[in-house]
Amino acid sequence: MSSEWDDLEAEARAATEDRGQRCAVDVFLSSLLPYDADIVRGVLANPGISNTGLHRAFRKRAGDAAPSAWSIGRHRREDCRCTKGAR
Ligand SMILES: [Zn+2]
Repeated sequence: MSSEWDDLEAEARAATEDRGQRCAVDVFLSSLLPYDADIVRGVLANPGISNTGLHRAFRKRAGDAAPSAWSIGRHRREDCRCTKGAR
């Protein structure tokens, strides 16, 4: 049996995912060249660097495209959509 409702679950799931906000750090990383994104990931993984320090450094280079210190903190705690939810 098949009907036009077969795809309902997939469609509803896609719509659910669309509603969530994308992680600002992820958006920022995907705006960079792969080489630069790797550098940023390396600094993000360094516990000796604060969220605020990172935010300021990003802002200096990227201006308003820089993610907020709050977004950076969430990303580092893995409390963001990069690790949660559906990807
Ligand atoms: Zn993230």
